[in-house]
Amino acid sequence: MNYLIKNATGILASSTIKTTSQFQSKSESAPCDIRISQGLISEIGQGLELINNETLIDATNCVIYPGLINTHHHLAQSVLKGIPAGLNSGLGDWLAAVPYRFWPNIDAQLMYDTATLGLAELLRSGATTCCDHHYLYHESVSPEVEEAVWQAATDIGMRLVLCRGGATSIGSHKGLKGGGIQPETVEQMIKRLDDSRSRYHQADANAMRRLVVAPTSLIHSTKAEDLKALAAYARRHSLKMHSHLLEVDFDERQSRLLHGTSAVQYAEECGWLGEDVWFAHLVKASAQDIDLFAKTRTSISHCPTSNCRLGSGVAPVIAMENSGMNITLGVDGSASAENASMIQELNLAWLLHRSIHGPEATSAEQIVKWGSQNAAKLLGLDAIGEIKVGKAADVVLFDMSHYRYWGNHSQTLAPVIAGEPVEVKTVLVNGRMIVNNGEIKGIDLDKTQSSLIQGLVRLKEKVGNF
Ligand SMILES: [Zn+2]
Repeated sequence: MNYLIKNATGILASSTIKTTSQFQSKSESAPCDIRISQGLISEIGQGLELINNETLIDATNCVIYPGLINTHHHLAQSVLKGIPAGLNSGLGDWLAAVPYRFWPNIDAQLMYDTATLGLAELLRSGATTCCDHHYLYHESVSPEVEEAVWQAATDIGMRLVLCRGGATSIGSHKGLKGGGIQPETVEQMIKRLDDSRSRYHQADANAMRRLVVAPTSLIHSTKAEDLKALAAYARRHSLKMHSHLLEVDFDERQSRLLHGTSAVQYAEECGWLGEDVWFAHLVKASAQDIDLFAKTRTSISHCPTSNCRLGSGVAPVIAMENSGMNITLGVDGSASAENASMIQELNLAWLLHRSIHGPEATSAEQIVKWGSQNAAKLLGLDAIGEIKVGKAADVVLFDMSHYRYWGNHSQTLAPVIAGEPVEVKTVLVNGRMIVNNGEIKGIDLDKTQSSLIQGLVRLKEKVGNF
């Protein structure tokens, strides 16, 4: 299907139409039209006419954004929001009370439904690509649990980067200890990674499916020799690498205690720094750590909502950006964010760093770049991240007709500066319409809801009340 979007204003790449600023805003130019052919943005200009059975999309009263790219998520947590035992806890107690308690008991059907829910939430907030840090692995795990995540993304039509987590030692992993289950061996992990790679991974710049090597924790539950083996495997097959790091001080303390070195130096010793690596959080990164990240071109997924919710702190992303690091944004799991909204992350990042560092710390335009272009660059998905001729058509139209936008003189940036709630009217991914008039086409939400309710009953039978 080919489309012509008429009367579009929004976040368009600077080279699209002559402008001196990095992004074009409504005040800088008249609306334009965007032609989408064979999945690609083929023409941008004024007064374009419908040709060759194109379908018209009227963007009047909308703003158009490149599909946002979430670089850190845990879709398995979409049904674990607001668990009372973890509501007022910091990371350590929260991990024990929430994800560790539940994850070994999530079956394939519940995983499919919770992934569908999480992806739908992301889509509603303008995201078209999700990096899911999926960690539900142990020695005897069924492959169907991971397959459910791939299937959910296929059914909804979003791009999925599956960051394949897991652990190879119990270490301080209370989830493995408490669940009485054995971690995978590194050989098992690599064998299973390889099965997924041959089945799902696409290497091209316009990939709909990507596999990433992503042990859940560098410091606590994967041995140094295993980390080295995983890094070697990833680099042999040009797979990106991802993990959690320095979310709280515990990583640094444990690294010094167990490995006699700082967490970031330990990562470097294990081959876990480089332009093919990104870490979620890095809240406790020191100036020295930032220098090493910048030198090695390691990136961050900044997750402000989750960091606030767990009381972890605020990642020093302004210093990171000034050092040349690539900043991207993630929502983290909904068990520590209570929603999955990329717009919330953009809005909070914009507010938080201005609050701490002053009004010139960052701008809304820069934040949009973190949530789109920077993430595409990190992932090597060069076909997406910008609205520009030749790029894949991952575009989002936010509906701006609601009275909450009346009187806002920066309509183009309103989704970021006014934050939630936003409403998406239309979403295209790779030129395929997956949201039409606010309705997600690929899923039946009523069916998802009743299946989720049944899945939660099964979960309760195994773990007791929430
Ligand atoms: Zn996480």
